[in-house]
Amino acid sequence: MSHAASGSLLIRAAELLSGARADVRMRGGRIERIATHLPAHDGEAVIEAHGRALCVGLHDHHLHLMAHAASLESLPCGSPVVGCVGGFADLLRMRARLEDPAAPGWIRGIGYHEGVGGPIDRRWLDAVAPQVPVRIQHRTGRLWILNTCALRRLGVEEDERGTPLERCGGRLTGRLFDGDDWLRSRLAGNYPSLARTSEALARIGVTGVTDAGASNGRGEFAHFVAERRSGRLKQDVQAMGNGELDGLADAPGVRVGPTKLYLRDADLPPFEAFCDAIVRSHAAGRPVAIHGVTRAELFFAAAALRQAAPLDGDRIEHASVAPPESLALLRELGVIVVTQPHFILERGDRYLEEVEPDDQSWLYRGRGFTDAGIPLAAGSDAPYGDLNPWLAMSAATRRRTRGGAVLGGDEALTPAEALALFCSPAHAPGGAPRQVEVGVPADLCLLDRPWETALNDLATVGVEATIKEGLVIWGRNEWRGAHY
Ligand SMILES: [Zn+2]
Repeated sequence: MSHAASGSLLIRAAELLSGARADVRMRGGRIERIATHLPAHDGEAVIEAHGRALCVGLHDHHLHLMAHAASLESLPCGSPVVGCVGGFADLLRMRARLEDPAAPGWIRGIGYHEGVGGPIDRRWLDAVAPQVPVRIQHRTGRLWILNTCALRRLGVEEDERGTPLERCGGRLTGRLFDGDDWLRSRLAGNYPSLARTSEALARIGVTGVTDAGASNGRGEFAHFVAERRSGRLKQDVQAMGNGELDGLADAPGVRVGPTKLYLRDADLPPFEAFCDAIVRSHAAGRPVAIHGVTRAELFFAAAALRQAAPLDGDRIEHASVAPPESLALLRELGVIVVTQPHFILERGDRYLEEVEPDDQSWLYRGRGFTDAGIPLAAGSDAPYGDLNPWLAMSAATRRRTRGGAVLGGDEALTPAEALALFCSPAHAPGGAPRQVEVGVPADLCLLDRPWETALNDLATVGVEATIKEGLVIWGRNEWRGAHY
């Protein structure tokens, strides 16, 4: 029997978050009925939940779809993949040998940081891989390092002016800061297929995402729409982006999101110009999402929002360092914080070495924000963070680094609060979590265990089935074969 033929899907004996056991019927993309017992209709597709937890489909409030898709094809250059300087050079040499010497393709490295090979530049890359175009992305996602072969491939002349490439003593260093737009235009804007990223998201129960690309314009938006329409992308997308998205109509499964505004405290924009950018976005009916990682960036963002007058839905992305005096300010502005609790796990040991001791207690806060009444949601920031929201939830409750140190233990959330970080709607991060209830879109995930054991060990939660608008977009084979 096929799901399409019957038009409805029944999940039997699922445990709802309330603890109630229920049967849930979906039809026409929505939840039609919830009851203690619903007899299956003729030809209806049935999933036997056997008391496993039924959760709303998760929403990842901050990730980068195209970069994630590209990363699946890329060379990981961070530790622990690469242990030391010699290791990184060897890895690149080995990878370069795989390219056809007559027509070498690009080597695209990701996740690089100085701990792996120092502050590498064009000259360093030329010494290791002179014959192949190489571009290495720094872990922050904001710096590319290119070799001479890559510069040539991009059509860059040594004396060419007006490119965002860094120069030192007049010579190109191969370093490109915040130059994704330029790089993309030189690479002729080939967008990657989002199919594999979408499948990876479905496997972990994600049915919606917010793409946080600052440079998303009409081309990127059209790509999301095309991927969604083709079915390669199965999740709904809210696309942040630049002013090109102003006034653009939403498409099925793809909506225009906030304007993404970047701050870098080494190079803050003129305050008035930044306020003007906020005002322009608000006038177009779009909230802003301001990237704020450092203390200075957070206060700059808050001051600008106050000057420009905040709009419902304005958000701070990361708010990585949020000292006590910032909380009242954020609360007063009504601004949302979208955080990455798993960075405590993934990067915490480095933070302990590199972040000012005074700031360590205020890193990727949880409890501090919620106690202050600041709406809090989370996103993976994939590919710069792990895609799996269950690891992020666990990190939000445990506050442990990979090395086992506790970072900001007072900031721990309860498991239910951690779950809620991924359950609020795309347009209202940190708002009331969506519920499994009659009438809402049938975006659900069925976990591999009941709620109590899931909440007790969020990090190991697996997903049996992910359902988007009443259709199974991912499921474990054992039952999929039995019913479909
Ligand atoms: Zn991001």
